[in-house]
Amino acid sequence: MAVRREGPGDSMHRDIFSPEHDAFREMVREFIAREVTPYHAQWERDGMVSRDVWRAAGRAGLLGIDVDEKYGGGGNPDYRFYLILDEEFARAGATGPGFAVHNDINGQYFLRLCTPEQRDRWLPGYCSGELITAIAMSEPGAGSDLQGIRTTAVRVEGEGEAGGSYVLNGQKTFISNGQLADLVIVVARTDPDAGHRGISLLVVERGMAGFERGRNLEKVGMHAQDTSELFFSDVTVPARNLLGDEGGGFVALMRNLPRERVAIGATALAAAEKVFEDTLAYCKERQAFGRPIGSFQHNRFVLAEMATELAVARAFTDRAVLQHTGGELSNTDASMVKWWDTELCNRVVDRCLQLYGGYGYMAEYPVARAFADSRVQTIFGGTTEIMKEIIGRELGV
Ligand SMILES: Cc1cc2nc3c(=O)[nH]c(=O)nc-3n(C[C@H](O)[C@H](O)[C@H](O)COP(=O)(O)OP(=O)(O)OC[C@H]3O[C@@H](n4cnc5c(N)ncnc54)[C@H](O)[C@@H]3O)c2cc1C
Repeated sequence: MAVRREGPGDSMHRDIFSPEHDAFREMVREFIAREVTPYHAQWERDGMVSRDVWRAAGRAGLLGIDVDEKYGGGGNPDYRFYLILDEEFARAGATGPGFAVHNDINGQYFLRLCTPEQRDRWLPGYCSGELITAIAMSEPGAGSDLQGIRTTAVRVEGEGEAGGSYVLNGQKTFISNGQLADLVIVVARTDPDAGHRGISLLVVERGMAGFERGRNLEKVGMHAQDTSELFFSDVTVPARNLLGDEGGGFVALMRNLPRERVAIGATALAAAEKVFEDTLAYCKERQAFGRPIGSFQHNRFVLAEMATELAVARAFTDRAVLQHTGGELSNTDASMVKWWDTELCNRVVDRCLQLYGGYGYMAEYPVARAFADSRVQTIFGGTTEIMKEIIGRELGV
């Protein structure tokens, strides 16, 4: 079954969706038009979205689609529903709500690693939008090199809560949903001598003593999404908030990265396609020297090149999506999707902005906002250079 995209993007006929997916896409579009787009400008001024949109997303079934229905989730493990969500938010330029971090990244940790008791405690709020989540890996001194993290969690046996606790100290930065988050998955070193096997995941909850949020960081783009520093000073985290095994944090992170990377790549590609479609329409309308600007050979070639590059990327990305849906996407292919689509997105948006001339530099034009919003995609979730390192290693060089 296929979804035909509207507008010139129709050439990218896709046969990876069923009518159920199409209906879901339509619902997501309506949700964005009703609950997101009218508030986006205000959220940009506020530097974050309202909690209401999270609860609205929960009511609409957009959070925890793959979580068991008994916790309020959708009970549907098909990854393509999350993909559709990411694509539609990207096409709408709706970069405020951090649903992708919550669903595509954090949800995978909760689903895979929670004990039954943790599921009961966290999943209902996770699905309803009452509990907003963040993941805190990066530190001021360690981003790409996660093994270089300095945040520590020292186990204190049997004191306080039954089962003991951890005393958490350290600092994180660039954390998406950092201001709004109620649950933060903190990556911390529990054994200083055990290398990557000394890294664990602890869930820090809003209000725990010693947990402070720093500034809501001022970014180049994505102004409606909060990104923050987080500080932990002698935070007592009950051992029952350990996610997965002690020392198993690094392996859990590595396991989830392909999902995060295909999601970022697919989001970038959807954003690029939309900007291209809009630009193509503009190039047919806008006149210079008595002709549509798209009819100058140079511009026609630029448009033809972008159409080709996007179509090629679409084929590769859809293949990766199907592989991921079937649980077969390799780390290498996910890295290829991530670097290729995000770099392509930046190139496409940059060339489209040029085609808009001066209007392209005006913030009220979606292409200008896309220019600022997309730039980060080659950086977060693993930089382009790190993606190439992963691919290079697989090549044996
Ligand atoms: C808007 C935004 C949101 C973010 N959200 C989150 C979040 O929610 N949670 C979280 O934990 N983190 C988050 N991050 C952090 C992000 O994942 C890191 O910024 C990223 O991994 C890069 O780390 P770094 O900034 O420390 O750069 P560095 O690791 O210091 O890298 C600097 C430069 O050196 C290059 N480099 C590093 N190592 C190598 C190498 N081996 N070979 C070649 N080049 C190399 C990098 O590619 C980069 O160009 C976010 C960042 C941004 C900007």
